[in-house]
Amino acid sequence: MAPLADKPIDASLLGDLRLATGPVGQAAKGRHTTTARELVRLSGGALLIDTPGLRELGLWADEDSLDRTFDDIDALAPGCRFPDCRHHQEPDCAVRGAVATGRLDPERLASYLKLRHELEVLEVRKDEKARRLHEKSLGRDLAVRRQEVRRNKPGSR
Ligand SMILES: [Zn+2]
Repeated sequence: MAPLADKPIDASLLGDLRLATGPVGQAAKGRHTTTARELVRLSGGALLIDTPGLRELGLWADEDSLDRTFDDIDALAPGCRFPDCRHHQEPDCAVRGAVATGRLDPERLASYLKLRHELEVLEVRKDEKARRLHEKSLGRDLAVRRQEVRRNKPGSR
């Protein structure tokens, strides 16, 4: 088998050249080469999705889905001293207590904390996008008002 660097990436994953690929530029950004979406099953059973034009994949979840996914942690939470306990560093946390006594897998709590952090980052990003859109519309309104003022200025006709 030839070294991976000698072959395009898709050949490394698929073993043959079924998907067209292009070079990656100096800014380490690729350029769209394919134009159709395609789902390819790899020999190991993994699925590879070619999504030209799709810039980002993200979580689509909220606090409720977090609680449903981690219903074991949600069930322990009422035992925490603080009703808004984040199960991170608060004293008398029933969830961390369950980890300490071996009733809850520490990896489970780590997964919960990681997913909750990702959801919080997602919320902040959504808020920033909403703020930018709002400011953009305010800027448009201001530009229209300035045009109206200039149009209605005495001596401008
Ligand atoms: Zn807690």
